[in-house]
Amino acid sequence: MISAAVGIPEAGLSAGIAFPFGYIQVARPIGCSPEHRWYLPTNVPRTTPYNAQVWTNANLVSSYGRTMMVALPGLPEGSQELIGQWARVKGRTQLNGNFMQSPFTPEPPKNSRGYLQNLVTTDGFDQVQAYYAFTSLMIYMGTLGYDMAKIAPNVFPILINVNAVDDVNAWYNPSAVDLTFGTGRRSSVGEWHLASDHDIVGHEGGHLAFDRIIPALSQWYSGDGGAIHEGFADSIVALMRNDPELSEDFPPNIGRNYGPTLGLRTVAHSLKYADVSSEVHDRGQIYGGFWWSTKLAMEDLLRDTRAAMDLGAALLLEHGFHYATNKPGPADFVDAVLAGAKVLVEGNSKYGLDYAKLAEIIKTAAMNRDLFGKDKKPTGKRTKFGVEFARIIADHSDTFLFIPQPTAYGPHLSRTHMLQYAFAEGGKVARVLGSGLIVFKDANGDSRAYSSSDARLNIKINPTVKVEPRQALEKARETARAILDNHDRVLAQIEERPSLSEYDELEKGAQRDIQVIEREVFVDALRVAESITSASDITELVVLPKGVGPKQSAEDLYWRFAFGHVRFYVNADTGVVVTQQIKQF
Ligand SMILES: [Zn+2]
Repeated sequence: MISAAVGIPEAGLSAGIAFPFGYIQVARPIGCSPEHRWYLPTNVPRTTPYNAQVWTNANLVSSYGRTMMVALPGLPEGSQELIGQWARVKGRTQLNGNFMQSPFTPEPPKNSRGYLQNLVTTDGFDQVQAYYAFTSLMIYMGTLGYDMAKIAPNVFPILINVNAVDDVNAWYNPSAVDLTFGTGRRSSVGEWHLASDHDIVGHEGGHLAFDRIIPALSQWYSGDGGAIHEGFADSIVALMRNDPELSEDFPPNIGRNYGPTLGLRTVAHSLKYADVSSEVHDRGQIYGGFWWSTKLAMEDLLRDTRAAMDLGAALLLEHGFHYATNKPGPADFVDAVLAGAKVLVEGNSKYGLDYAKLAEIIKTAAMNRDLFGKDKKPTGKRTKFGVEFARIIADHSDTFLFIPQPTAYGPHLSRTHMLQYAFAEGGKVARVLGSGLIVFKDANGDSRAYSSSDARLNIKINPTVKVEPRQALEKARETARAILDNHDRVLAQIEERPSLSEYDELEKGAQRDIQVIEREVFVDALRVAESITSASDITELVVLPKGVGPKQSAEDLYWRFAFGHVRFYVNADTGVVVTQQIKQF
């Protein structure tokens, strides 16, 4: 999810930066304009006949409203809609083969209060931007050696839902493997179509790429996984474009000052780990900042901006295959980056940097963020592959079972996570959340190393199941209803509060927007929960991750329900319900 502390203007409402709109809609010839030269890799095919209008830069603000002509890559001949090799776009309108969509609606909506209220983009234009931005990112990663179609076979083309919801929100859904972008129609500041911003599309596309490289980090029990994800999503966009500002269109649409150097977030900063909260976007800034500093240091050494960007982006992608734990902390992150750096540059003169120099850059950048140091030890440990691995499985075959998940096939290393299941009395089998084994294979498919750091080989199970799936489902529904009631109460309280100033009113609107989005998550979860007719078909027994729930000598079993973006865990012994909102990204 793209998230913002919304609604607090840094100055009065009239303090917008002057904006030269005289340039709007100047179409440019196909090719690279000077300010655009980092954007497309040189080998993007430009021969398809599908010309389209896209921003000259990432978005309306950073392009000063200007558009240029490009050829849309990856579309088969005779395409009527945007269904290509990498993306299939679903918008609100049919394009019927016309991809030269004009940017702005002729009649701007009346209810808009954002600074750019007269400039609402058309659904057709939004579809084209989403297609182009996502496809460009996938092609760029391919030029670096990371062909997503090989890393994650059978998921492309990705469904991109454009203008599908009315919140100021965008997300990647790891279960459906699709992207969704809102219109902002239901927000307090007004309409703004998030799919029209290439940075936002790239950010969500980055989440998708990273999730396919290391799916375990998308779980709510993945340590700093969420923050590392956010840092990844911001950095892949920043490195590809050599622009540290993320989504310059966001600030004006939440009532803040705007301009080409004012993004919603930036990766160009010197914040340290302890300077931010643990919220994923907040902490994600530290990981994003690390990647940007690393790029700057490589640029200094290589004296070649493009080379530094590409090596930075390759390292960003490569490191994801090297995590020796699915619950990484800062030290595990640095460990994965160093391991990735090693396979990337060792014996490879292409990048013009040897491992010792690159490792020095990485350690310095990590130290400056407090991600690395003497007191910081990785929790994940790699062990050379051998007979011990088989022994772990054989020695515990009476109590545990390890089931491999789909492998992520990287150009240098592939990574397979084996989920841990526990046998309990009476023939029950329960998945042990957050536990398992990790196996690393080289490009030839030979197993090189493994990690058992996340395995829980000594746990005892309380096999009592007093609550049946049908009763558990009812408890999950009751919980969802109670949470909804609570949201309604909070919303009513916000409405009742008098606003004394325009600032107050804006603040109130921002709080309302957040509540509405949060509430929507549970509306959706309850809708799914109520549509279920047979609970036993959709639930499974699990053991909660280490450190979650009450400390006991034996682990209770829980019925797990996944409804939309919420997970419900119903204690099979006591009926107590634990809920977790999964990251919407
Ligand atoms: Zn995100």
